[in-house]
Amino acid sequence: MIPVIPPLTDEQQAILLTVRDFADREVTPRAAAIDETAQFPWDLVQKMADMGLMGLVFPERYGGAGQSFVLLALVVEELCRACATTGLILDVTITLCGEPILRFGSEAQKQRYLRVLAGGRQLGALAMTEPEAGSDAAGIRSTAVRDGDHYVLNGRKVFCTNGGVADIYVVTAVTDRAAGHRGISDLVVEKGTPGLTFGPPLRKLGITASATCDVLLDDCRVPAANLLGQEGMGFKITMETLDAGRIGIAAQAVGIARAALEAATAYAQQRQQFGQPIASFQAIQFMLADMATAVDAARLLTLCAAHLRDHDIPGARESAMAKCFAGDTAMRVATDAVQVFGGYGYVKEFPVERHLRDAKITQIYEGTQQIQRIVIARSLLK
Ligand SMILES: Cc1cc2nc3c(=O)[nH]c(=O)nc-3n(C[C@H](O)[C@H](O)[C@H](O)COP(=O)(O)OP(=O)(O)OC[C@H]3O[C@@H](n4cnc5c(N)ncnc54)[C@H](O)[C@@H]3O)c2cc1C
Repeated sequence: MIPVIPPLTDEQQAILLTVRDFADREVTPRAAAIDETAQFPWDLVQKMADMGLMGLVFPERYGGAGQSFVLLALVVEELCRACATTGLILDVTITLCGEPILRFGSEAQKQRYLRVLAGGRQLGALAMTEPEAGSDAAGIRSTAVRDGDHYVLNGRKVFCTNGGVADIYVVTAVTDRAAGHRGISDLVVEKGTPGLTFGPPLRKLGITASATCDVLLDDCRVPAANLLGQEGMGFKITMETLDAGRIGIAAQAVGIARAALEAATAYAQQRQQFGQPIASFQAIQFMLADMATAVDAARLLTLCAAHLRDHDIPGARESAMAKCFAGDTAMRVATDAVQVFGGYGYVKEFPVERHLRDAKITQIYEGTQQIQRIVIARSLLK
């Protein structure tokens, strides 16, 4: 389904311009150092919270801004155009932690968790992937065993974004092994709960300052009231969560691609070879033209998926298409941007090598590109 996306309201335009200005003035100048030092940018998180961005799509009654997913996608694009790590912190908190609580949580859970996420006082995370269960998300082994008013969680989660820095974790665990994927449940686990610990931060190719680590559950007792939805609904909740998350990653990819395109366009006009700007060569012009076309197409797919989510229309296929196309676009555009820069694209004095390293993760997390194609093909062939 290809929806017609209405124009942004005056209020949404104003929010987006404020975010663009913040990204240009406060985030872009810091991005190279954030990448180089891998220091988690707490101060920028605080500023995003002060701007009301950390709960952008949560309803106002839970402390959010009550805005649309379309606006969220555009905001994530602007932030990731400046710094892919900074945008990801907000994106994951909202789409992978806030969304499942908003959609499947009890009123008490929403009141308790969405307010603190929206206020930026605490960050959120999703701990799903395990050493033996990545693409095969139903193959998880972590367990949650009911014990009176509690569940006791055991297992090891890997690659958790916002791991260690977040206070609120949506954790997937098996409550009924015999029921297969219908025996998986999602629970909210708070940092500080005895038995919840974290591995050391992983050192990564890109998004270096994003906190990624193991989440370890060792007889971790969680109140039964922290179960999201019903027992056995966890797989469905997580798949629907990823439909939202993939819109965020698509937006991140568009932001990275746009940054690479803008850098390459500016450089091509300034760099002289053979007595003229390299932008005068048709080979460079065609590369820029293809890059710009792909960026706009990726954004349109992303906004289509976001629009469906805003209207509660099932959009697993559209989210997968957006994430798949935008991730591949980010990788291709960043690679071409390095090419436009020639040797200078390969060194750290210029930003495009960072964009290339940051782009790669958008082809991997929240389901690899191969898994997105499986989702798309299944919906075509069912
Ligand atoms: C930086 C980073 C942050 C992450 N953040 C989070 C997070 O916050 N929470 C979380 O739960 N997880 C997170 N992940 C995990 C991420 O979602 C997984 O790494 C990803 O889904 C792939 O799983 P895997 O690494 O186990 O690869 P595998 O599943 O082992 O896949 C290896 C290769 O096989 C291919 N493959 C697998 N199955 C098939 C198939 N059926 N058909 C065709 N090809 C297939 C894959 O496409 C891939 O190319 C993160 C990962 C990274 C690197």
